[in-house]
Amino acid sequence: IHTMSADIGLIGLAVMGENLVLNMESKGFTVAVTNRTTSKVDDFINGRAKGKKINGHHTVEALCKDLKKPRKVMIMVRAGSAVDQQIDQITPFLEKGDIIIDGGNSLYLDTTERQKKLEAKGFYYLGTGVSGGEEGALKGPSMMPGGSHPAWEHLKPIFQSIAAKVEDGSPCCDWVGEQGAGHFVKMVHNGIEYGDMQLISEAYHLLKSLLGFDNEKIAQTFEEWNKGDLDSYLIEITRDIFRKKDDEQKDKYVVDLILDSAGQKGTGKWTVNAALEFGMPLTTIGEAVFARCLSAQKDERVTASKILPGPKPGLLHGLSEEEKQKHVDSIRDAVLAAKIVSYTQGYVLMRAAAKEYGWKLNYGGVALMWRGGCIIRSKFLGKIKDAFDNKAELENLLFDKYFQDLIGNAQEGWRRTVISATTNGVPAPGISSSLAYYDGLRAEILPANLIQAQRDYFGAHTYQRLDKPKGEAFHTNWTGHG
Ligand code: NAP
Repeated sequence: IHTMSADIGLIGLAVMGENLVLNMESKGFTVAVTNRTTSKVDDFINGRAKGKKINGHHTVEALCKDLKKPRKVMIMVRAGSAVDQQIDQITPFLEKGDIIIDGGNSLYLDTTERQKKLEAKGFYYLGTGVSGGEEGALKGPSMMPGGSHPAWEHLKPIFQSIAAKVEDGSPCCDWVGEQGAGHFVKMVHNGIEYGDMQLISEAYHLLKSLLGFDNEKIAQTFEEWNKGDLDSYLIEITRDIFRKKDDEQKDKYVVDLILDSAGQKGTGKWTVNAALEFGMPLTTIGEAVFARCLSAQKDERVTASKILPGPKPGLLHGLSEEEKQKHVDSIRDAVLAAKIVSYTQGYVLMRAAAKEYGWKLNYGGVALMWRGGCIIRSKFLGKIKDAFDNKAELENLLFDKYFQDLIGNAQEGWRRTVISATTNGVPAPGISSSLAYYDGLRAEILPANLIQAQRDYFGAHTYQRLDKPKGEAFHTNWTGHG
């Protein structure tokens, strides 16, 4: 092993780490690697990394000694305390001006803290969201770097060369902002991913339960949708999922053999926590997280299904082909409209965080980073980028003319879908709650006057009046008692 020969070091040779290393090497960079369990280093070096400019090490000390200055060490381990442990292990072998990058799904607040601590010691720290799963890591992920800005110029050439590219060649990676901004944006990305997946699943439920579609018909429907405004990676893989037969039970589809209980690793919950913290409505993603929680209560659902009264779906099976197609189009419009709401809410949340922390987020740039490489990649994000290119400080995506028209046109089918879902007892929490947000946003007058009256009645919390100057507080003696 040659010392000081590597352009970058990477710690953590699991799915993401290994593939990122191979991606970097394929772009001409020499990479030094290590892993807590050192046998994985040997397996990698003798396997996928064989013959490549990848230097394996059994200690972080050896890895650090192998790096060109300023040293760049990327940590790609399980989020949480493992990141702190790794940081503590490498800092003795680094010197001022060296750069540590955390590429895992760390909580943005942790990233902000780590940056503060490491900068106090003279190091630079980049919290970088990486999306795209295994294949993205290997062929081009979406990357969202934030943290110590002076370090960005050193990582920019590496990150932008390994990141996914959109049609015109722009990389899906650019500077996001100070502190935990990169991880915040990645977190919102994951929340939006939860929302998109939930909306697609609701469409599946409706197509299956209301219209009686079989898997091939469902696959064809998603294939059709993928040619229009919903064109996206998640719709594409959904189409393929509905065509996949099981290896063991060859006449069955895999999807029909999978237990209907969804897991989660917590980034969706973090996004909703942040929304609650900032007081921003994030209803579509919130419902997506809760829908996973309800799905996981399988035993309760089995019990409840036997005792709780309600309509049984299937009322629409007898419809003509033409009528069914109208319902399919309505469901598609409902998914599109709810998706617009979900992204609108996600962007509003990012604005709130940027305001609180003083980040100068480039919202069009964020859309571009998500446009390729990551799980939520879609054509739709190109339109979001256009909206922010037209008006960088757009307060709400629904104030953009393109999205106003799109949601306006989708609205009839959206409302029809909520009606048929409710009358037939098929849950569609993402589709219906996003409609409630939309109608709430459109409402010049909401019934919050009553809430203020109640608060004033029982707790003398006071209220403001429509007929008096803003900000003046009033209290009524509601009961007439002294
Ligand atoms: P992972 O399963 O999250 O983590 C496994 C890696 O973490 C292994 O290298 C493991 O080392 C190391 N590790 C765990 N605890 C450690 C500790 N206390 N000290 C040192 N190393 C420790 O791996 P992953 O799926 O590749 O993900 C890596 C990061 O990227 C995570 O933050 C994840 O959330 C994020 N991410 C994952 C995906 C994905 O699709 N998988 C996509 C985007 C982002 P050993 O081999 O010694 O156990």
